[in-house]
Amino acid sequence: MSASTSSADIPKATATAAGNAAGFSDGTTDYKPMRSGAKYDPTKVHISELPMTWSNWYKQVNWLNTTFVVFLPISGFIAAYFVPLQLYTAIFAVVYYFNTGLGITAGYHRLWAHSAYKAAWPLKLYLALVGAGSVEGSIRWWSKEHRIHHRYTDTVKDPYSVRKGFWYSHLGWMVFKQNPKNKGRTDITDLNEDAIVVFQHRHYIKVVLTMALIFPTLVCGLGWNDWVGGLVYAGILRICFVQQATFCVNSLAHWLGDQPFDDRHSPRDHFITALVTLGEGYHNFHHQFPSDFRNAIDWYQYDPTKWAIIAWSWVGLAYDLKQFRSNEIEKGRIQQLQKKIDKKRSTLDWGTPIEQLPVISWDDFVETAKTDGKALVAIAGVIHNVADFIKEHPGGKALISSAIGKDATAVFNGGVYDHSNAAHNLLSTMRYGVLHGGCEVEIWKRSQSEKGDVHSVNDTSGQRIVRADAQVTRVNQPAASADAA
Ligand SMILES: [Zn+2]
Ligand SMILES: [Zn+2]
Repeated sequence: MSASTSSADIPKATATAAGNAAGFSDGTTDYKPMRSGAKYDPTKVHISELPMTWSNWYKQVNWLNTTFVVFLPISGFIAAYFVPLQLYTAIFAVVYYFNTGLGITAGYHRLWAHSAYKAAWPLKLYLALVGAGSVEGSIRWWSKEHRIHHRYTDTVKDPYSVRKGFWYSHLGWMVFKQNPKNKGRTDITDLNEDAIVVFQHRHYIKVVLTMALIFPTLVCGLGWNDWVGGLVYAGILRICFVQQATFCVNSLAHWLGDQPFDDRHSPRDHFITALVTLGEGYHNFHHQFPSDFRNAIDWYQYDPTKWAIIAWSWVGLAYDLKQFRSNEIEKGRIQQLQKKIDKKRSTLDWGTPIEQLPVISWDDFVETAKTDGKALVAIAGVIHNVADFIKEHPGGKALISSAIGKDATAVFNGGVYDHSNAAHNLLSTMRYGVLHGGCEVEIWKRSQSEKGDVHSVNDTSGQRIVRADAQVTRVNQPAASADAA
């Protein structure tokens, strides 16, 4: 983005972009589809906007995608019933599964969609080839959709928004036609300048057929004469498993697990998601730090994609691995933790806030202390009604009763017994009023403002945070008496 770019300099296609506010160029242009499909007419109601009926459902289905993600896998399962699985073919299918899976996670996702590291051309070529073997579209298309997903997470412009349901985000978004009107836009200039990306995109069908079906068939056929098994197991069924695994990043990773960094959006962290997605399971972290080459930041978390990138960097195939400082990561973690604490705190009874209590004169306090079933005790300028607590007082009935109508600040804070943190908390739930000119309330207010942390005593919802040992009734050097009143 260039700050000096005036709106007049922006190419027409960019200036009309939805995400282009106030004339800032966001680098997006209209996406040119892979192959020239049916022309989109924005004046007509798109088929996806019509309710699905018996007479129009087949028009709502994207048959090309459905063939690759539904019919092909089904055909593989049927064929597997008739074709025995040979040991070498099984081993190769698993090995090729990990290679093609890495093509998506380390290649399509972390290298091309997020530029989380740089790769030498042999590694790029390998990732472009095995990535195509997963049959999930070209790098250019996949990365564009994924950047839109990050930019517009959970909104109508998110191509696989989990807000439309688990199955929609997993498969539905490919099986059913999408209204181009809802498509978000993103900048893919860098991908258009990458020769390997452009080559793979231009020759996509040839590359896919070769890598997804022909190559595994040849390996198993020439290797141990299992041509059909190679096609069925290392080809078709392996495609199905890689697809289902990586589709889980769009569905399961937005559905299952914790949100240690941000809970405003759906991404979540979970070990199970990591297990099935070659380490893409720490998705809450990933949406916060998308260009970090890691998904799991702790050594014990499962992220084989990260391990592969590190291994490639050792032999010089990968370099410029991007990593956020742990200072930044921990700040996010602490803030989310704080948010959770605030939420929990807001459910607890901390007593009526001091400023909402009625102000009562010393004489009125003394006069009414024992009337109407009340038992009023003043501590640090705050009047408490302890009537319901006298019987339960751990220090005995006599002592607490003797404090009624008196200032018990010193007695409560060590004169007789230095009350516990829990006692101060419990006392705050018995608040009745504040003494007019009650000195300790004034002292407390002053000390809060002198510390300069007036803001830190309120949580995000404006509720006062009462830290341990910082209750208003806590007085380190007890006032001798309440004569100040
Ligand atoms: Zn996501
Ligand atoms: Zn991502």
